[in-house]
Amino acid sequence: MIRVSKSVIGQAEQEAVRSVLSQGFLGTGPETQMFEQELGNYLGGDSEVMCVSTGTAALQLGLQACGIGAGDEVLVPTLTFVASFQAISATGAAPVGCDVRDDDGLLDLSDAAHRLTPRTKAIMPVHYASHVGDLDAVYEFAQRHGLRVIEDAAHAFGCTHRGRKIGSFGDVVCFSFDGIKNITSGEGGAVVTCDRSVAQFVQDARLLGVERDTERRYRRERSWDFDVQEQGWRYHMSDLLASIGRTQLKRFDAEFRPKRVALARRYRELLARQTQVRLFASDIGDVVPHIQPIRVGGGKRDGVRAKLEESGVQTGIHYKPNHLLTKFRVEGARPFPVAETIYGEILTLPLHPDLGLADVDEIACLVDQAIKSLP
Ligand SMILES: *Cc1c(COP(=O)(O)O)cnc(C)c1O
Repeated sequence: MIRVSKSVIGQAEQEAVRSVLSQGFLGTGPETQMFEQELGNYLGGDSEVMCVSTGTAALQLGLQACGIGAGDEVLVPTLTFVASFQAISATGAAPVGCDVRDDDGLLDLSDAAHRLTPRTKAIMPVHYASHVGDLDAVYEFAQRHGLRVIEDAAHAFGCTHRGRKIGSFGDVVCFSFDGIKNITSGEGGAVVTCDRSVAQFVQDARLLGVERDTERRYRRERSWDFDVQEQGWRYHMSDLLASIGRTQLKRFDAEFRPKRVALARRYRELLARQTQVRLFASDIGDVVPHIQPIRVGGGKRDGVRAKLEESGVQTGIHYKPNHLLTKFRVEGARPFPVAETIYGEILTLPLHPDLGLADVDEIACLVDQAIKSLP
């Protein structure tokens, strides 16, 4: 079975974990601090990096650090992982789903403009399939309407926009290092920001709101006489997981990035010839693709999916639009015609660094055959 996505973990990660295990400190500490420094160096710019337990936690804390909570509304594309919506609702704010653009599946600002209310406080662009689109337009829109920008960059680690790395600029940028993302720490995430007050909030909030506990834990000390002023969570990163993340970061530019880019290029080259397949717009090269979604027209998506499964090729559907989920359905909301059309056509093909170009050739060929065999 060819898996749709997969963690690529080797000897180096195992040795890194063994080394932390042998030191007898598993909590957050020097290893996490080094991961943060190395991420900061990698991204460049003056941003501060705060590692946390998951990408979802990063989004939640990023929002809360901007003062977003009960009574507020946050604009977010409906075509995203439910994590984006849950992170917003975890703060007490309401996620306001927006329709997406037909060509790349990203948040449609002209649709978002219709969903603004006096309660709108932030916008969460999602870098779907690692493509950031016209991010400058998102920031202009935010500035015009007085909104904070919390980027869901879970798919976009290592991507660049106009020559600058995602995370090296912007308001608040959140990454995920879960098992299948561009780099993994097992589970994990990071909040990246140049805003000192956001950084300070996240540092304390991830450790139960214990003031300046981060500094002490990084020296392997504990706070015994401390104050707490805000609600906090146990959202810090373990040194055990940071050691996996540090190893993955070292492998990223040499192995994972070129592999993902080459595989995506090959898919695009082969599938561009197939008239019933549409590809999302993407600047491959600037983009290091986390997933490879395609659109299959003519009502053939489910048939193609079944044929691939029969041939041992696993596929995915990224994503079921969130406005169709019971928790996030809003009575009388403006419709989402584009997201619903895309939902009926999307199919995610396998993409991970353990695949070879020959696998891509075979999968593209299967897609082709499946389309031809379907009525
Ligand atoms: C993976 C992902 C997240 C959440 O990250 P976790 O680390 O799994 O919590 C958020 N948004 C999107 C679009 C994702 O793909």
